[in-house]
Amino acid sequence: MKNRFHVICIVMLLLFSLQVLAKSNSNSAFNKYKTGFINRLWKLYPDWATSVGYHQYDSVLNIPNANQRLKEKSFFSIERNALKQYSYEQLSDANKIDYRILEDYINYGIWQIDQYKSWQWNPADYNVGSSFAYILSENYAPLKKRLADFYIKLKNVPAYYEAAKQHIYQPSEVHLKLAIDQNEGTLSIFETDYVSAVKSLKLHPEMEKAYLQRGADASKAILSYIQFLKNYNTENGRSFRLGKDLYADKFKYEIQSAYTSDEIYDAAITRKDFLHTEMTQLAKLLWPRYFGKLEMPVNNLQLIKKVIDTISVKHVKAKNFKAEIEKQIPELTAFVKEKNLIYINPKKPLKVRKEPSYMAGVAGASISSPGPYERKGTTYYNVGTLDGWDSARAESYLREYNQYTLQILNIHEAIPGHYVQLVYSNKSPSIIKSILGNGAMIEGWAVYSELMMMENGYGLDQDSAAFWLMYYKWNLRTVCNTLLDIGVHTKNMSHAEAMDLLVNQAFQQQAEAEGKWRRVQVTNVQLTSYFTGFYEILQLRNYLKEKDGAAFNVKKFNENFLSYGSAPVKYIRELMLKK
Ligand code: ZN
Ligand code: ZN
Repeated sequence: MKNRFHVICIVMLLLFSLQVLAKSNSNSAFNKYKTGFINRLWKLYPDWATSVGYHQYDSVLNIPNANQRLKEKSFFSIERNALKQYSYEQLSDANKIDYRILEDYINYGIWQIDQYKSWQWNPADYNVGSSFAYILSENYAPLKKRLADFYIKLKNVPAYYEAAKQHIYQPSEVHLKLAIDQNEGTLSIFETDYVSAVKSLKLHPEMEKAYLQRGADASKAILSYIQFLKNYNTENGRSFRLGKDLYADKFKYEIQSAYTSDEIYDAAITRKDFLHTEMTQLAKLLWPRYFGKLEMPVNNLQLIKKVIDTISVKHVKAKNFKAEIEKQIPELTAFVKEKNLIYINPKKPLKVRKEPSYMAGVAGASISSPGPYERKGTTYYNVGTLDGWDSARAESYLREYNQYTLQILNIHEAIPGHYVQLVYSNKSPSIIKSILGNGAMIEGWAVYSELMMMENGYGLDQDSAAFWLMYYKWNLRTVCNTLLDIGVHTKNMSHAEAMDLLVNQAFQQQAEAEGKWRRVQVTNVQLTSYFTGFYEILQLRNYLKEKDGAAFNVKKFNENFLSYGSAPVKYIRELMLKK
């Protein structure tokens, strides 16, 4: 008894002193913990590490078997306990947010393994393509070194796909097809890209043979997985629709909103009605200008569509697309400065470039920024080229990005959207936020910045009514993305209903709408991030505007909001309102 008591005493003393230590020095201890957490994360997920520019584990390919899943679960529970050692109240604001982000991420990880289980029903979870392609195409180290890692990593490819086969259980037909398509795409990495890269090294013949053999074995393993999927009986396959319960949970973990998905659905319906009302008024105002005395359609949606189609005819020529974007960036910057909307650091210029070939076909325009391990790199505005498009496709694209919407695109992607947000988030670098940053806040900021520019008079020197109408159409897209995603995954929305929503109510081209339908079947929740973030930022802004009255200053609000980094809006709100 005595001995035991003694042991307990020591343990208690140890715990007590640990606590004192943690509390007296909680921020620096927590900073150390974060660094350790990220290192352990990379060890567990080497592919992810590679993709963010951390190259210590490039040669590792984990086999996704039961043992690996156990490792992940134990990682999450150990980290959950470790996190509890830190007293939340004693942390700085920045660390408070990091703490909450880590907590959410850990809970999300456990939920994904135990509840979501896409490792059973989504065969597309298994694809080695992207990390191998990254090692082959990104020039971060000499080719010889990269291929040496590639070669070691290749060894586990056959075991990887064998483990995948063991897990597939009642996959949805849609995801089965996606997995077949995507893995067929991966084949070319090993059948052509890798082969020519190896040959270019002029290795010793024996070694070259060994390198090529492993590539061939990998191809064989992928082909065998594709065949396995093609033979799979999908009669008892589950629906591609996530269902109410899983959806509500995934929304909670991924979007990290203060609202439930049902509440966001209702807010999106309200916004859609508001936009339709405003757009009807504008279309009625604009009608005589384009159609003279011609009678207006009785149906308001048809009226809006006719006016939008007419306005969209004005657009830049395909060959001037990139030059027009380059010209607009300084104009947007000047407007932001003149209206005092937010400080933009002139020392961090944005470079517009032609979209690199490995991105081709993904999106018309995007921002790519240096990862957390290459802070000094350049931020690029990638612009897709229309070279080789047939004229009908190019025309449809150019109408989508017509003279007005092209400006809104630039606001969204660059000034003061994604690019400016990025510059601010890099000012207070947090490895946690750059790895586990909140997508809804990032997209929400870009969508909010569009409205903020319009509200402050952007486009007044152009045809203002037409500009607002096109802005509303653009905003309607994010609203309908949300209605589509929640509708399809929780309300059994049919293909016909989806087309009605996107084409008739959101004025999209048939081809664009069909593309959205394909996307919503194979993904879930992500499509709601744009509207949810926008809605929450606007709520916060409007609340402060009302509260502060004449003292409210939009520049101060914008800068203050962005100073918290890429964090969930609800956590930023909490800290902003506390002050
Ligand atoms: Zn045209
Ligand atoms: Zn965006």
